[in-house]
Amino acid sequence: MEVVVPFLEVAEAIEASGGEDLNLCYQCATCTGSCPWGFVEPLNIRQLIHLAQLGLEGYEGEDLWKCTTCNTCKIRCPRGVGIIDIIRSIRTMIVETGLIPQSLRGALGSTKSEGNPWSGNRSDRNSWAAEMGIEAFDKDKHEYLLFACCMPSYDPRARKQVAAAAKIFKAAGVKVGVLGSEESCCGESIRKIGDEDLFGNLAGGNGALFREHGVEKVLVLSPHCYHTFVNEYPELGTKLQVTHMVELLADLLETGKLKLSKPIEATVTYHDPCYLGRHNEIYDAPRKVIQSLPGVTFIEMIRVREESLCCGGGGGRMWMETKFGERFSDLRIPEALSVGASILATACPYCINMFEDSRLNLNKEDEIQVKDVTELVAEALA
Ligand code: SF4
Ligand code: SF4
Repeated sequence: MEVVVPFLEVAEAIEASGGEDLNLCYQCATCTGSCPWGFVEPLNIRQLIHLAQLGLEGYEGEDLWKCTTCNTCKIRCPRGVGIIDIIRSIRTMIVETGLIPQSLRGALGSTKSEGNPWSGNRSDRNSWAAEMGIEAFDKDKHEYLLFACCMPSYDPRARKQVAAAAKIFKAAGVKVGVLGSEESCCGESIRKIGDEDLFGNLAGGNGALFREHGVEKVLVLSPHCYHTFVNEYPELGTKLQVTHMVELLADLLETGKLKLSKPIEATVTYHDPCYLGRHNEIYDAPRKVIQSLPGVTFIEMIRVREESLCCGGGGGRMWMETKFGERFSDLRIPEALSVGASILATACPYCINMFEDSRLNLNKEDEIQVKDVTELVAEALA
């Protein structure tokens, strides 16, 4: 895809739209050496930053949407360059020209028209809640707004995650409500794709809805929702107390509000999702929860915590075709098997989706299961 960027002062435009660290880069290439694409089909991120410093002249753009925004390069960069912000700024300039990859057009179009990137009807959003006994949010009755991500409304596998959460709320007496079909996608991936205007509309609309309903505390199942509510919504005027499900589970177990008694006889390993781990440093809570599960033997993989291998689904890659042989999730399943795990646990609907695909593609369905930590806790309830 050839991209002609219609800006005379491209480097200045990148700096002005969030990539202000552009000229901090001194071209050491630590980022390129850290990038998970190096395990499959290298992405030369150092070169992209250098070209951006020079105004992107001659840049053809084919690598730009490869970045999964996993944050590995940024935390290793000796100059602390905001590499993801630079990539996002360049994507934003290109999205403004309309020259975005074809596969992302559907996700953006569906989000504009229906409030979700999964081509689902807005009216179906949160329609699962009633059958699981979760009511419409009422600030006088519910401690948390449950913002369950778009995925459970449109993806049957993700619905199992929210069903497990509903079982836990009932067992522990946690009061949650949902906002029905008025709520829209949190917009985290939309912003990383580069559609800053659409992100602003989503964040503005959700923020107004939260204020209208008196929402102060939000409980999320997706690290992507967590990240944008904690780190991006405040700059647009929406400040919330945000809890990820693994944090709630760790607290419920520690305070004795949740009792687990049904043994799960399995060896479980844990994959740190990029947006829970590297982006927000939540590493201990999910491990504490897994180690509390009766009957479970917990074992770590190589590449854990800030070294975790990205699943490949962030930054808009969920909606892009990744060729066989280039999927990071296909590397992670053998890593889990190599330490003797029969369950690969994680805490993100995107990671679950990617690993379920890999488990099938690699013909490993009989050897390993993929579970959300929430699903394991629900299974261990009496
Ligand atoms: S690691 Fe940082 S300083 Fe080094 S090339 Fe990458 S962005 Fe530049
Ligand atoms: S954020 Fe991750 S995928 Fe993107 S360039 Fe950095 S290391 Fe590579």
